[in-house]
Amino acid sequence: MFNMKVVQPTRLDPDTRFKFRCHKAIKCFTRCCSNIDIMLTPYDVLRMKNRLGITSEEFLDKYTIMRIDQKSSHPYAYLRMGDDAERRCPFVVVPDGCTIYSDRPVSCRYYPIGQATLKKREKGGIVHEEFYFFIREEHCLGYQEDTEWTIESWRDDQGALHYDEMNREWKELLMRRNLPGQPELDPKKQTQFFMASYDLDRFRRYIFESRFLELFEVDEDEVEKMRQDEVALMKFGFKYLKYLMMMEQTLKLKDGVLPKQ
Ligand code: SF4
Ligand code: SF4
Repeated sequence: MFNMKVVQPTRLDPDTRFKFRCHKAIKCFTRCCSNIDIMLTPYDVLRMKNRLGITSEEFLDKYTIMRIDQKSSHPYAYLRMGDDAERRCPFVVVPDGCTIYSDRPVSCRYYPIGQATLKKREKGGIVHEEFYFFIREEHCLGYQEDTEWTIESWRDDQGALHYDEMNREWKELLMRRNLPGQPELDPKKQTQFFMASYDLDRFRRYIFESRFLELFEVDEDEVEKMRQDEVALMKFGFKYLKYLMMMEQTLKLKDGVLPKQ
C-alpha cells in the first residue's frame, strides 16, 4: 500500500527473523511519512475519524483522495498528502512524529514490511496466499538497530494483526472481484462501493433512514448490533458489498417486494 521505491523481492514467512527499531532519537525519524501513497482500509478510516472526532464524510473530504483502480474498477481512498515537494502526511509533525499514532493506518503499522496476496489455482478452486517482503528505503536507518523480530511478532507488536482481522473480509472480496467473468463496477456501484467501504456515517443513514430495512430481510439482532456498534455496521457493509458485486446472495429481498411476473 505504500508507494515503495526499494522493495526486496524475497518472500518472507511469518517466522522470518529480522532486526529493526524505530524510535524518536533515530536520525531518520519521520522521513518515512513523506512522499508515499497510503491506501486506506475501512477500519483505518473508522479509527482515524473517531480519533479526530469528525464524521466519516468530513474525514474523507478533508484527508483523502479517491482513486479508481484501473484493473479492478474499485474506488479506493488514499491519504491526501501535502501539496509541497515533500508530499508530507497531514498527520506528521516534525520532530514529534505521528499525531494519531495509536490510530495510524495498517500500512504504517506494517512498515518496513510490505504485504501482498497471490492468487493460486488449486484443485478446489482459486486460493489466496498472503506473504510479506522487506521495504528497504535508503533513508530508513531502523535496520541498523538491534531489536530482533519475526514477521509475526512485528505484526502483533504494531497492532497489525487486529487490523488485518477487522479488514479480512473486505480484503477477500477485493481479491475475488478480480476473478475472470466478473463485470466492472459501473459509476453507480462505485459510489455504493466507496460508501459501504469507507463512509460509515453515510452508510448508517442509508441503512436506517432509507427504505433499506423495508426491502431486505435483516435479522433483528444484527440490526440492533449495527445501531450500537460501528464495527458491526462496517461488517454489514462488507456483506452489502458482496451482494452489490454479485458475489454471494448475502442479502435477501423480503417477500412481496418484487412485483409478481
Ligand atoms: S525511516 Fe525507518 S527508522 Fe526512520 S522513522 Fe521511518 S520507519 Fe523509523
Ligand atoms: S499516518 Fe502517521 S505513521 Fe502514517 S504516514 Fe502519517 S504520520 Fe506517518
